[in-house]
Amino acid sequence: MAEPPVRLLLGSIHCHSTGSDGTADPGEILAIAGAVGLDFLAITDHVPAVMADHPPKRPAGDRSRGAAVSFPAQSAGVLRLPGLEFSPPHNHYLVLGLDPADVPDPTDLPGWPRPEAYMAFARRWPGTLGFLAHPDDPGNAFLHLQSYRWDDWAVTDFTGLEVWSLSSEWSRSVRNYREAVRAVAVGVHRAVPPPNPVTVARWDALAQERKVVGIAGTDAHAYRTRWHGVRVTVFPYEPAFGTLQTAVWAKFPLDGSPEAKVSAILEALGQGRAFMVNRVWGHPSGFVFRAGQAGPGGSAEVFSSGDTLPAGFPARFEVAVPIPCWLRLVRNGVAVANTYGRELSFEPLEQAPAAGPGRPPGPENGAIGRRQEAWRAEAWVDEPHWSKAGSGFFPWIFSNFIYRELPL
Ligand SMILES: [Zn+2]
Ligand SMILES: [Zn+2]
Repeated sequence: MAEPPVRLLLGSIHCHSTGSDGTADPGEILAIAGAVGLDFLAITDHVPAVMADHPPKRPAGDRSRGAAVSFPAQSAGVLRLPGLEFSPPHNHYLVLGLDPADVPDPTDLPGWPRPEAYMAFARRWPGTLGFLAHPDDPGNAFLHLQSYRWDDWAVTDFTGLEVWSLSSEWSRSVRNYREAVRAVAVGVHRAVPPPNPVTVARWDALAQERKVVGIAGTDAHAYRTRWHGVRVTVFPYEPAFGTLQTAVWAKFPLDGSPEAKVSAILEALGQGRAFMVNRVWGHPSGFVFRAGQAGPGGSAEVFSSGDTLPAGFPARFEVAVPIPCWLRLVRNGVAVANTYGRELSFEPLEQAPAAGPGRPPGPENGAIGRRQEAWRAEAWVDEPHWSKAGSGFFPWIFSNFIYRELPL
């Protein structure tokens, strides 16, 4: 049978409906996602749905779960990825491929609220993916937000990290009135800060040990509140969905059922055939990150993100974008090539890298030492004229890794 065609699909991962502490029901949220033009959406309601510090948006005593489950795999033209967020006080865990209705009250799980309890539980369903949500969320004293960071770094059995989080990046970047005013001035839904450098460094380190997939999320709740007497809605769904998106290159069964298409998206995400994009700066159609054979007459074999280059393969890394911008190629967390333009090509001098120690093994980081190189690409657009941010460039695209085996 012929391989299905690979299609670039853009979606939004991580938001909350009235199934937990969001403010719109799943049908309304899917309709908004359709209006924004998303290909897919993962509504990830909290389980337990009622958290001590998150008031439920439904009648007291209603502990029903899985409001999203009655929705089909495709609604308003949007493919619905089943999803949920295990939400103990710390160590929030996004699971894709699993609906809240399939999950018993997690507080009944043996070992709750230790992450091993729900990570092992989610793993029982084949094909599910698990991501550490907003892993370095610092909380915010100014906005009275507590930290929801990941604490337990001894765990290793997850698909990846929510590397770029709309709500967490703003929470990190707004620490006083001046920064709050500036955030509004530069456009809360436009000039999203870069991913937390702490998380990115962690991701670069972990990826030298094993595959770790990065995703972008919004964590939109469209939470209604008052700030100094002014009615505000924090991260309404529609503008949030138009910012940080996760894109996948899915092996898309064109005549397949919506369920088959959802499976194709989950497969691509799990493989790391995916990247993160702030859609405000443009559609990433034409974005390329690949590695082929260096030198003339190289083989036609091409490696994409999620793939692993065999040890000793003479590689040439290539990055291409549809509009000129600042391109960076990053190896093991260090930028090894930069250019301004639409293309970047780089052949490492050291084609057979030496094996070396990575992070020291230790109980707090769960590290097992360096096993591979991790290469990724970034694209940053010029700061637009209307912005007063003064940072020069805004982050547009963060790829996932192409891995490179170290020689034994
Ligand atoms: Zn969370
Ligand atoms: Zn959340």
